This record gives sequence, structure tokens and C-alpha cells, in this order.
Amino acid sequence: MRLREVCLLIGRDGTVLWSDASDSPVSLPDSRARWEAIWRLRGELEEISHSHPVGPLGFSAEDETTMEALTVALGRPVRFSVVAPDGMVVREEGKDRLVTVEPGWTGRLRTESGMPRAGSGCQAENSQHT
Ligand SMILES: [Zn+2]
Repeated sequence: MRLREVCLLIGRDGTVLWSDASDSPVSLPDSRARWEAIWRLRGELEEISHSHPVGPLGFSAEDETTMEALTVALGRPVRFSVVAPDGMVVREEGKDRLVTVEPGWTGRLRTESGMPRAGSGCQAENSQHT
């Protein structure tokens, strides 16, 4: 499967409420449909997660802008996360932390992004990345 960035909206108990995908491994353009879904689901929305199938394990400058806009629009803090081949990072209360035990839906996020599953031992490819 081709690598691409995928966005998931997560509700209570780790329910996947909505998802969409870009056609690029390095960007996830703003989409009207995504903003509408976020607004419609705002009552149950707990976390907004997206993948970085080729890394990095962290938020990009573009992500920062989007997260700021979303926080303002929602009027309350929401959890943001990035899932990369080598792990997952969560932004909560303005602080980033690495997640050691990933929630179940990261499996789906990785699969839909074309990433090998965590711990599948398919790291050889990545180590040759230039
Ligand atoms: Zn990103």
C-alpha cells in the first residue's frame, strides 16, 4: 500500500468517529469535510490523531497552526497526537509526551497509512532512509 497521511477523530473509549486520508506521505491538507466532521462531533471528540508515515515523530509547523486554530474553534482543549513508524507522541495541556502503550486504533491508523505495524520488525527499510 502507498504511504499517506491519515487523520482519525477519536471519541470516548477510543472509538474512531471519523477518518480521512491525504494522497501524500508528508502532508494532510486542510479539508472542509474534516472541519465539518470535527464541528459536528465536537461533543464527543476527545482526540485528533494523524499519521506521519515517513516521520518525524512530532508535530510539524503546519500541525502547530492547525492545532491552534482547532483549539480556538472548539473553545476547549482537545488531545492531539501523531503516529509515526517509530512511535506515538501526544500533546496534552501544551506538553508533548511519548506514548509507551498505544491505543488499539493506532493499528488501523498505521495500516491505512501504509506503515508497517509497530513491533513487526520491519525497521530495516527505515534505517536505510537518507
Ligand atoms: Zn502532521
